[in-house]
Amino acid sequence: MPTYRTKGIVIKYSDLRETDRIITVFTANLGKVQAVAKGVRKTLSKLGGHLDLFNIVQLELANGRNLETVTGVQTVTNFSRIRTSLSKTSQVYYLTELIDQLVPAEYKDTRLFDLLASTLKILDSDVCDDEITESLLAQAFKVKLLQLLGFAPQLNQCGQCSQPITTTGSYFFSNQLGSLKCRSCWDSKNQGTEIALPALKILRVLARENLLYLSKVNASQQGLAEAERILDNYIKYIIEKEPRSLRFVAKVKGLAKRS
Ligand SMILES: [Zn+2]
Repeated sequence: MPTYRTKGIVIKYSDLRETDRIITVFTANLGKVQAVAKGVRKTLSKLGGHLDLFNIVQLELANGRNLETVTGVQTVTNFSRIRTSLSKTSQVYYLTELIDQLVPAEYKDTRLFDLLASTLKILDSDVCDDEITESLLAQAFKVKLLQLLGFAPQLNQCGQCSQPITTTGSYFFSNQLGSLKCRSCWDSKNQGTEIALPALKILRVLARENLLYLSKVNASQQGLAEAERILDNYIKYIIEKEPRSLRFVAKVKGLAKRS
């Protein structure tokens, strides 16, 4: 059977038969690849811990009729710090689910792989040691993912009348337009969220700056929470359902507040 090598991030798996698993790996040069990992659930499997979720792995795959088969694997990075933090883990579940839901099958773009790999690396590093930076990073990932997939939120002018956005007006975010709307274009029948200036400023910084700049951004908890809500609603509108992991993220946040 011909085999080939590729590097990717494990973004999903499901159990198959008694000891196998189907894994989805998001690769740099082939997009999403589904492969069967045979015997991976046996205690002494050589593939074992290498194929945990979020690991960056070097894979050897054999072409199959429907699915590829994993014939070899080496872990490149296993992000041990993310795994010891429940809130980081919940965010990563959500972000990888977005790759699974939003990136079309067969779609290849190395920038998407780089975005996910860089986000995981920063989440796993010293740069990300507080809740605000962690959330900024997750929101930046969402904005940049939307930009790369052609859903960039329009934040500089009203999506209907094209008036530039000022710091004194009041604005709404329209999921249908993927854009801000000014008050005079807003119709009370429209669904949508009013957006306050701090949240708007945060979204603009996230859209403009690179990921590493985020630890320097001054964001209030309230502005950031509002920016997060607007992004999550917009994503829900695009994928036409609520991502499963969103509830997990909310639950973990609830736990943190109670402790
Ligand atoms: Zn307008």
